[in-house]
Amino acid sequence: MDDLRLASIACYNAGSRKEQKLAKKVFEAMDADGNGKVSVAEFSNFASKLGLKGFDKNFFNQIDKDKNGFLDFEEALLFYYIITTRPFCDMCGQLIMDMYYSCIKCFRPTSSNSCDLCPSCYSCGTFKHDHEEFIDNFALLRKQKPSSNSREIFALGVELAKLVGMPGPEEVIECIQM
Ligand SMILES: [Zn+2]
Ligand SMILES: [Zn+2]
Repeated sequence: MDDLRLASIACYNAGSRKEQKLAKKVFEAMDADGNGKVSVAEFSNFASKLGLKGFDKNFFNQIDKDKNGFLDFEEALLFYYIITTRPFCDMCGQLIMDMYYSCIKCFRPTSSNSCDLCPSCYSCGTFKHDHEEFIDNFALLRKQKPSSNSREIFALGVELAKLVGMPGPEEVIECIQM
């Protein structure tokens, strides 16, 4: 959660005035009684109004950094960041905080119809989907850059080829690039 906390603050600081204003408005909307802090009840109310599942007291406690039973603006910012940047698992419906698996064929940077699975749903292997190839989000991101001639991959291919006794790096690169 610490990385996400830093990311949420960095994202807010780097945002435009309009984006920052919206984040403040979200906080005000969460803080239904307007006392400047968000209680567990206000938090779960807000989450259910958005139709979000899994944002219970346990989750609240995780984002309540100073454990005072209320969310201040920065703590609420973390929640806002999570729900606007993290995908939901298409099998169990849970929000995925860390690594996830995405269908290569359905994933397009411009499409909202990606198919994402949390690691446990992915590994249980019972998800029904038209396509078979899923890779994790880090690998997916790397695939987005024109990396077939990336020097890093090439250098890795050369060394791996030597170690496994292949004549050249091409065959190795083909396999690690999928
Ligand atoms: Zn899942
Ligand atoms: Zn697909």
